[in-house]
Amino acid sequence: MSTDSSGTDDGGRERPFVIVGASLGGAKAAQALREAGYTGGIVLIGDEHERPYERPPLSKGYLLGTSAREKIYVHPPQWYAEHDVTLRLGTPVVAIDPAAHTVTLADDGRVEYAKLLLTTGSSPRRLPVPGADQEGVHYLRRVEDSERIREAFRPGARVVVVGAGWIGLETAAAARAAGAEVTVLEVAELPLLRVLGREVAQVFADLHRDHGVDLRFGAQVAELTGTDGRVSGVRLADGTTVPADAVVVGIGIAPATALAEAAGLEVDNGVKTDQHLRTSDPDIHAAGDVANAYHPLFGRHLRVEHWANALNQPQTAARAMLGEDAVYDRVPYFFTDQYDLGMEYVGWVEPGGYDRVVFRGDPATREFIAFWTSGGRVLAGMNVNVWDVTDPIRDLVRSGRAVDLKALADPAVPLTDL
Ligand SMILES: Cc1cc2nc3c(=O)[nH]c(=O)nc-3n(C[C@H](O)[C@H](O)[C@H](O)COP(=O)(O)OP(=O)(O)OC[C@H]3O[C@@H](n4cnc5c(N)ncnc54)[C@H](O)[C@@H]3O)c2cc1C
Repeated sequence: MSTDSSGTDDGGRERPFVIVGASLGGAKAAQALREAGYTGGIVLIGDEHERPYERPPLSKGYLLGTSAREKIYVHPPQWYAEHDVTLRLGTPVVAIDPAAHTVTLADDGRVEYAKLLLTTGSSPRRLPVPGADQEGVHYLRRVEDSERIREAFRPGARVVVVGAGWIGLETAAAARAAGAEVTVLEVAELPLLRVLGREVAQVFADLHRDHGVDLRFGAQVAELTGTDGRVSGVRLADGTTVPADAVVVGIGIAPATALAEAAGLEVDNGVKTDQHLRTSDPDIHAAGDVANAYHPLFGRHLRVEHWANALNQPQTAARAMLGEDAVYDRVPYFFTDQYDLGMEYVGWVEPGGYDRVVFRGDPATREFIAFWTSGGRVLAGMNVNVWDVTDPIRDLVRSGRAVDLKALADPAVPLTDL
């Protein structure tokens, strides 16, 4: 079987657009293709059994039990048929043949494609220590993980969270809300130190300590102890053991690049794409967590592991798949909710790539904006319990111009006047 540039096979049948990875990125890509007027076939293939859903609630409202399951889904069940999208769930794709324009399914079936989009996302890094595969050790990526973890968060239960990143901290907050005793183990000196730097990382350390979390820094996990296959504690490299009824591991994620790599696509910290989200194969695009995409504003490749990226990149990918000159150049954005702290962050800063953090408002009140600056230019801003300021902060980041740092710190000066 061969294909030509018109996307038809030997029999003259029109090949569909195939999307591998049926989560936020994949579902939004199908929607964007239809909204762009594409009338050909769309096959959305995912290995999970749930129809596409969003993950942020899994460590927030859904984990807390305050948000209903129905709220997590990207589209209602009938949306797929109504938009003539063939949704194949519980169907792992095991190979891509770029020359034949086919993907192979786990059951050995094949699906032909005219264009292929990879939205395979990422999966949690595993804790590489003895005992990590026992019962009671959890990773949080899928809806069923969230449900199992919620079950383990009981009043008085001893919960140990390994890793003080976003997932670890949100999980710790949910465990406290459920009345559990929570210890967070982090190998660095502060939570989120690499992402936020010392000044703002301290805000999150104080927040969790004020809510009764036992935060331990410089903690190197050596082993998960247990009895009869069930975890009972975390032994640290310094010999201390923290007793645990449940352990949640949040030590980062790895992009799901295996398929792309085996197909010979360029892979480097994700599937490499140009600014049109096109991979090294012109008929294969990538979007969301898995894509390491060239970003024209920053002049480098960026892999963004956040919801807004998986929401918006598919629109560019869809238009590029349809032959338009679409470019993805949005400024990265993410958010978190922990206890009564809500925050949004817009911008991008290389670890250590700023010279000054400017606060507008007092961080001790947990109602402030922090700006990461370099040579007077705003690289990123984070608004904490302050709302409706993302657009002006994004404009400052995008403009790349130097601003008066005194005025930046002064709440009386509108951000739009800087
Ligand atoms: C618990 C949690 C909380 C989060 N909270 C926030 C937040 O507060 N703010 C924020 O900005 N971001 C947050 N994120 C990140 C955000 O959810 C991700 O960036 C987003 O889910 C990425 O979407 P995606 O579609 O690219 O990939 P994914 O959501 O990872 O989806 C990829 C899908 O592809 C499937 N797949 C992979 N390989 C194959 C294959 N070979 N065959 C078939 N299917 C395959 C996967 O099983 C999965 O269903 C959170 C993530 C998690 C896990």
